[in-house]
Amino acid sequence: MTSSNPLSALLPDFGIKQFSAIDLDGRDPGFDTANFAAGVALCPKSLEDIKSIVAWCAKTKTPVVTQGGRTGLAGGTASALGQLVVMMEHMNTIRNIDAGSGVAIVDAGVTLTQLEDAVSSFDLTVGIDLAARGTCTIGGMVATNAGGGEAFRNGMTRQRVLGLEVVLPDGTVMSDLKKVIKANEGYDLKQIFIGSEGTLGIITGVVLKLEKAIGNRKTVLASTKNADDALCYFKRLHAMFGENLLSAEIMWKDYFVTICQELEFEGRFGNLQGETYFIADVAVPQDDDRLLEVLGESLEVGEISDAVIAKNEQERNDIWRVREESFLIDKAYPGGCWFDISIPLSELDSFVKESTSRVRAIDPALKVFVMGHLGDGNLHYTIAKDEPVDHLYSDIATALYTGLSAIGGSFSAEHGIGTEKRSSMSKFVDPTKLSLMHAIKATIDPMNIMNPGKVLPPK
Ligand SMILES: Cc1cc2nc3c(=O)[nH]c(=O)nc-3n(C[C@H](O)[C@H](O)[C@H](O)COP(=O)(O)OP(=O)(O)OC[C@H]3O[C@@H](n4cnc5c(N)ncnc54)[C@H](O)[C@@H]3O)c2cc1C
Repeated sequence: MTSSNPLSALLPDFGIKQFSAIDLDGRDPGFDTANFAAGVALCPKSLEDIKSIVAWCAKTKTPVVTQGGRTGLAGGTASALGQLVVMMEHMNTIRNIDAGSGVAIVDAGVTLTQLEDAVSSFDLTVGIDLAARGTCTIGGMVATNAGGGEAFRNGMTRQRVLGLEVVLPDGTVMSDLKKVIKANEGYDLKQIFIGSEGTLGIITGVVLKLEKAIGNRKTVLASTKNADDALCYFKRLHAMFGENLLSAEIMWKDYFVTICQELEFEGRFGNLQGETYFIADVAVPQDDDRLLEVLGESLEVGEISDAVIAKNEQERNDIWRVREESFLIDKAYPGGCWFDISIPLSELDSFVKESTSRVRAIDPALKVFVMGHLGDGNLHYTIAKDEPVDHLYSDIATALYTGLSAIGGSFSAEHGIGTEKRSSMSKFVDPTKLSLMHAIKATIDPMNIMNPGKVLPPK
């Protein structure tokens, strides 16, 4: 706790010691330098702690910014002077794993890796996976409705949550910790909190549906002429492996080549050449040759131009590093702009071509790096050049989002709105839907103390 925030003087009256006030100096603020701008943070250890903190915030009209692992990429955890940061890292107990029902009940501050490790001993898996797995929390994943690489087969976090416990903005608790799929008890209110990015309450407990653990997996990296061909290959793999097709990721050439250079991986995957590169994981026994069989068929019809199947864990990791270490683009081209959109699969190839042309029309020197989750059409763009381009954010956003809604896509796929895409809400969300969101916010949080300035644009 630092003394620059006027709240610091008030907190001792509140009996702050019992909640372990945090010294922010020397801590990692995460992806957003504004995360610690409030200068004061509490680290509660129990539901009772959080209820008291929020009740105090309601009484004093103090805005609350909840932080999980601070891996969010949309600015949802940014704070400001006069606000109180509530860190969830000590809310890290796995309350129960009911292996028989395939369900886990956890505190919101449990990390994805912590839960994955715990359920693996029951031959189960969480069914959601993100590259931020070691740091992101289950509460943060629920608050952002995280997607990740398995969403095309298991759904987003929204589809995995059976029950929730939430501290509301007046300090009361909505407890709905169901362990069953079927529970039609009026409006499904937990869904309003999923994806609300801390603007409606603090999620303290989560019930997640689990999946059967995955056994041996094989990984293939293939080059294709374009995204349509990658899609054909994806469909062929899906027809062969069904639910045992675990992931289907795509990278466009400029992304693939730049990351390989940054990792000093040139030539590591043979002489793969193409406009797009596709990674798939399948769950099959080691002696199962069907991956080779599908590869042969796809090569024969020209869907793929070349491919590498990882022979061991090292090769598998190398392939996945190219996809997951996307921040290396920012290292090579600092000051770029990031976007996270989703596109119907049939439009993927043409959308990327057309949006790239629209972006280059702003400035021909702009580089367009694209990769994402092919299985569900979620693409991540980084637009950059040799000098920072942040000042072009709004022009680039318009170029990218143009036509998206007409084809049934979304300008905000899985990272959430936070502060970053807030201004796009007024432009790209149906006005009636937006006014309903404002009405829900006003009903649940009439004093606007939960993560103000996030998600919803000013009315
Ligand atoms: C390398 C990397 C890869 C990533 N890959 C993916 C990906 O594939 N798919 C994807 O969807 N995201 C991805 N992300 C983004 C990020 O990991 C997710 O958004 C994740 O769900 C955030 O979890 P967190 O605990 O870090 O939340 P934070 O970053 O701490 O918070 C995110 C938002 O949720 C709110 N919040 C956090 N905890 C709570 C709570 N308990 N109650 C109420 N509100 C809360 C915060 O106020 C904030 O608005 C990636 C990020 C990184 C750094």
